[in-house]
Amino acid sequence: MNQHTRFNLPICLAVEEDAFSHSDEIIRRYIPEIMGQKTIIVSEQFLIDIYKDKILDISQDFGDAEIVAMNSASFDEAVSIAKKVCIDDVKVIIGIGGGRVLDTAKYAAHISKAVYICMPTSLSNDSLASPFSVLETEASARKTIACKIPTAIIVDTNMIINAPKGQTLSGIGDTIAKHTALFDWKLSAAKTHTNVEDFAYALARMSYDSVYHCDEKDMTSRVFIRILSRALVMGGLAMEIAGSSRPCSGSEHLFAHAIEEYYPGVKISHGLAVAMGSIPACIMQGQSPEGLMSFFKTYGLDYSPASYGITEEMFDDMWYKARFVRKGRITILSEINHDKGQLHEIYSRMVEGK
Ligand SMILES: [Zn+2]
Repeated sequence: MNQHTRFNLPICLAVEEDAFSHSDEIIRRYIPEIMGQKTIIVSEQFLIDIYKDKILDISQDFGDAEIVAMNSASFDEAVSIAKKVCIDDVKVIIGIGGGRVLDTAKYAAHISKAVYICMPTSLSNDSLASPFSVLETEASARKTIACKIPTAIIVDTNMIINAPKGQTLSGIGDTIAKHTALFDWKLSAAKTHTNVEDFAYALARMSYDSVYHCDEKDMTSRVFIRILSRALVMGGLAMEIAGSSRPCSGSEHLFAHAIEEYYPGVKISHGLAVAMGSIPACIMQGQSPEGLMSFFKTYGLDYSPASYGITEEMFDDMWYKARFVRKGRITILSEINHDKGQLHEIYSRMVEGK
């Protein structure tokens, strides 16, 4: 993609306790010129109900910003928010929510050229700072579309600590998946006689290392949440610098995409699907998966396909389909044949947890 072109970095990355209650002070410190500009807050109705007081406070702090409850995380919704932004002369969009809200708000800001302030209520994946939005297109189909990264990212550690545990586990999964993604990126570079972007590679590697080697095993502790927040942001920036999702997305992501596209009935979050995919990917790459498996156990991340209703037959088919979901992406899957016997062994090993 656009290697060796310019990239953007957020002006502000604040990871603080109670950051939401003083988000206006943070923005005034970093980007004073946008204070007083017409602002809207994009969120979802259920979050507006849960965090009513907090969101109303933020609205007041930003000049009685209008609160917009989005109807879906779709391309059409992003375009309709962008239309409103352009027609009403809105200059700033604040996205408050999980991945769905942040992706929609980010894309709406991208097409309307508004300043985008990202305020996650949970840490479920690395899209919070990435140059991509995943949006629904038609029916259940979704597409990853390139866009601008946020101008400011404000993480309130108290919010994240109180978010559902599954969301944080999903964020952990998306971070740990970089292990197999980076292997596949190097493999692809070698096959195409190109180089990986060293700086993007280093950032993604550090993102992974900071969580994988973290001494803090309590995922609801402030220390862990701070490390995970920064790891997810660094993953996003690695993609921005590389000009592609390669530093954070390899064969384990192809597996997750195959589930999303062909098995929409399987209810599993993106981060947990890529975590599950990273174990077989690791084995196919000729690496030992034991480190990953024991890491996941430590944090209580369930990687058994059976726990999500995935039978052995489905598992085999998902890996088969993973080969074709992203044309032109070279990973370990392009290098080896589909091996039913090996997948049978891997499936049993994952279900038994050893
Ligand atoms: Zn991901």
